[in-house]
Amino acid sequence: MNYPRIDIDCNKIYHNAQFIINQLALKSISVTPVTKVCLGHPVIAQTLIDAGAKMLADSRVQNIQRMVLSGITVPKMLIRTPMFSQVASVVKYCDISLNTEIDVIKRLSCAAKQARVNHDVIIMIELGDLREGIMPNHSINFIREVISLPNINLRGIGSNLTCRYGIAPDDEKMKQLSDIADEIESTFGINLEIISGGNSASINWALAHRRSTRINNLRIGEAIFLGCVPLEQPPIEGLHQDAITLTAEIIESKVKPSLPWGKRGENAFGEKDIIQDRGVVSQAILALGRQDVCIAGLKAPDDINIISSTSDHLIIESARSPLVVGAKIRFSLDYSALLSSMSSDFIYKFFNKSKRGIT
Ligand SMILES: *Cc1c(COP(=O)(O)O)cnc(C)c1O
Repeated sequence: MNYPRIDIDCNKIYHNAQFIINQLALKSISVTPVTKVCLGHPVIAQTLIDAGAKMLADSRVQNIQRMVLSGITVPKMLIRTPMFSQVASVVKYCDISLNTEIDVIKRLSCAAKQARVNHDVIIMIELGDLREGIMPNHSINFIREVISLPNINLRGIGSNLTCRYGIAPDDEKMKQLSDIADEIESTFGINLEIISGGNSASINWALAHRRSTRINNLRIGEAIFLGCVPLEQPPIEGLHQDAITLTAEIIESKVKPSLPWGKRGENAFGEKDIIQDRGVVSQAILALGRQDVCIAGLKAPDDINIISSTSDHLIIESARSPLVVGAKIRFSLDYSALLSSMSSDFIYKFFNKSKRGIT
């Protein structure tokens, strides 16, 4: 078996996805699972479809292309506004894209016309987190231009909160998006089919929301894979938090002083931490480093402390567990560690799909 490795339990991902899809269906909200943390891996995509997903979303055209080429046929949504250079592949591989720039949509329109297809768009509205989105007071004029473009279908509007500044997706924000949807519909006499309110950070709002809003879709990644949501730290009840873990191997284990000796400057990363003399310690080095994963996002087992890291080494200590060479240590991951380690070619990806017999 090869290390470092990520173990991906497809049964747990299936359970998490199905739970979220079913719970939000009770609130008349559809869930579009977001595959970007797993780079559109076809095994995960199929797991999500088996769990009930009717559409999949990803931020990268390459990931969506990968799903198309591996025979994933459900509609696919591109959730980052396209670059000019991508419009031809966007209309080829993506059924629907999130957009905020009229010049991009005009190019999508030309590319779609050339390819003799129609391309669907959702227009993102800025609600205060200051990432993507048109300003709310521009929405009517913007939509007027969009609906005039050939080979472009306006499917709805959406918003994204939390990712940049942690602005919460609450009743007020969701009502604002709903009001904008109403205004667009009455101005142009059209029906907006999709009102996509947000990401995993919206789950608790959606599960608790009683007041009816127009929100009928969420784009969910993190909650499916990690069983938790970004704003609230406590995990979501009923979801697995250990669907994906990272295991690395000890390559050196020694009793050493805790205090370095010699003339001291900054380390290779320009850091110079204050070091306490804790006498001699039992330290071990794992074959895992900053080139592989965002170390700050790793959580070690309770009796093990992560002390420091370099490009290729992770140094841990334990007062209780014997840290022997060759032993494997399993970590849980936060979003940053998941994203970085899934994207690393140095980390083996192992899919456990035995119980449900996924092919
Ligand atoms: C990544 C992303 C999502 C999913 O976010 P999670 O926090 O993983 O649920 C949704 N929408 C957009 C636009 C995104 O970029």
